[in-house]
Parts: sequence; C-alpha cells; structure tokens
Amino acid sequence: MNNTGYIYRSQLMGTIVSLKLFEDHKTAVQAIFNLIKQLEDLFTVNRQHSQIMAINHAAGQHPVAVDRLVFDLIYQAKQASLLPNSCFNLAIGPLVKLWKIGFNGYTVPDADDIQQRLALTDPRLVELNATDYTVFLKKTGMSLDLGAIAKGYIADMVKIMLQRYHISQAMINLGGNVLTIGDSPVTADHHWRIGLKKPFASDNVLLGIIKVKDKSVVTSGIYERYFIQDQQLYHHIIHPQTGYPLDNELQSLTIISPTSLAGDIYSTVIYGMELKAALAYLQKLSSIAAIFVTKGQKIILNTKQHCDFELLDSQYQLINNYP
Ligand code: AMP
Ligand code: MG
Repeated sequence: MNNTGYIYRSQLMGTIVSLKLFEDHKTAVQAIFNLIKQLEDLFTVNRQHSQIMAINHAAGQHPVAVDRLVFDLIYQAKQASLLPNSCFNLAIGPLVKLWKIGFNGYTVPDADDIQQRLALTDPRLVELNATDYTVFLKKTGMSLDLGAIAKGYIADMVKIMLQRYHISQAMINLGGNVLTIGDSPVTADHHWRIGLKKPFASDNVLLGIIKVKDKSVVTSGIYERYFIQDQQLYHHIIHPQTGYPLDNELQSLTIISPTSLAGDIYSTVIYGMELKAALAYLQKLSSIAAIFVTKGQKIILNTKQHCDFELLDSQYQLINNYP
C-alpha cells in the first residue's frame, strides 16, 4: 500500500468500476465484483434477458414474479416517479429505446412517434403486488428502465457487503456514483476528495473537488451521453412530459446524500425543475446537499453542512450557500 491505498478495477455495467481499500482484501474484492455482476444481470435492459426484461416482455400480458430486491428497487422507483413535479419516470423505457442516445442508431425521432411512446410511459400503469412480488405493465409496449438508479442501489449493496467483511473505510466508484464509507485514513481532515467533472471536457479535467465523509456523491449531467444534430444537443435525460431531452439551464447536478440510491433518485427527480423550485424542494430534504452547474458557467452550492467544495476552474463562478 502507498498513501492512496489499494485500488481494484473491473469493467462492469458499461463502465470501469473501482474500489479503494486500505488493506489488501482480495476475498472481499472478488465477492464485491461478483455481487455487482449478479445485480447488473438482474437489472439490465441492454440485453435480451434479465428480470427487468422479463417484465418488459410480458407488458400488456401478465404479471411477472421477481426477486425481492428487484421488487424493492422497482417499488422505490415508482414512488420517485409519482412525486409531484418529478422528472424521474421508471416507465421511460419506450422513449429511451426510441432515441437510442448513447447507442448505435441514435436519431431524432418523428414527433408522432414520440407522442405514441409518451402514452406508454404512465408510471401509474406499473402495477406492483407486494404479496407475491409481481410486477405488471398494464399496456403492451410499455417498458421499465432503471438506468438512472440501478448503480445507486448497487453501490448501497456493495457498502453492506463491505460491512460484512468488517471493512469500515473504503470508496466505491461506479462511474458517476461514488460512495465513501467512513473517514478517509489518508487525509489530514479525514474527508474524501471527489472530483467534479468539467462538463464536455476530457474525463480527467475537473471543475473542483468535493470533500465529504461517509456520504454518496452522485452526478447526472447532459454531457454524459449525447449527440449533436443541426447544432442542437440531444442528451440522455428525457423529460417525461415532452418526450424530448430536457431543456433547462443545467449542465450537471450533483447530489450528496447518505445513500447512493437517494442520490440517484434526487439527481433525476430534481433535474427537470427550475432552479428556484429545485432549491425550495431541497430545503425540505435536510440530509441532502446539491451542486448545480449551469450553462452560464455558475456553480451553485446548496451544501448545508454536509460537504465542502474547492473550485479549480476560473472560468466558472462559485455561488455559495444559495439562496
Ligand atoms: P443517470 O446517468 O443516472 O443520470 O441516468 C440516465 C439514464 O436514465 C438514461 O441513460 C436512461 O436510461 C434513464 N432515463 C432517461 N430519462 C429518464 C427519466 N426521465 N427518468 C428516469 N430514467 C431516465
Ligand atoms: Mg442517476
């Protein structure tokens, strides 16, 4: 070990997953990478077979029984979809598949096709039965997409697994979802340092450094997956009411929260809100802090006492403790 600990990496969930520990615990690492693989196999919609795909294939036909943890994630995703003014929608699948943003064959669809697909995305038509853990999509053509929150759920499960191995200081990075466990043993202030990516710059260019302890840091951004056509940028967060990539002042939104699932949920729930509405919304969520990065190159911190932010990019203006 050097002063940065032991770092383990594996290619999983379409990204590089990394795990930082302070003892060389190969058994725990293997168990964790296996766990991530198993969970990915349950949740993915990018292959023909998974429990989520079984639900999607049976849309309009019959309910499908799933593992309890799959049911649990779908339940939480439905709740988030039904929050007032939520931008999150677990039934967004038909639109994600139509746009194909980030995949081969991406395209700006016909307006008529978007309208037709919108009719298949009502989250109230996702019927859950908690007695036998079944899920039924009531209309043919509906499909679930848990891409916005699966990593958060998986990161929290990794934390539980680490605790089983009595590992109390660690950092998990699932690409966009970072979860820190305990204090950092290698910094004088015991806080972990997490880079905030500069939108549309190369991967290692940072806007600043977020300092946290025992917290999740999740970022959603329009620069993660997108294409440009006729000078218009189309990104991968779809507005559930319009069916188009949502169009507001944000380049990215980072949520700092106790669990990674909460970070993943709120980074999408709030993303579609006007900045003022989002800040008012956050006032009610005492355990959650947020960092908004705007197209006007402002970084707006609503960080309460949960984290510290150090600006590295002089092109951006830092606005502290807004409002
Ligand atoms: P994230 O990277 O966590 O911000 O999630 C983005 C992914 O969530 C997309 O690639 C889609 O798979 C999915 N998605 C897109 N729009 C929505 C939405 N409005 N609600 C829920 N999931 C979405
Ligand atoms: Mg997310």
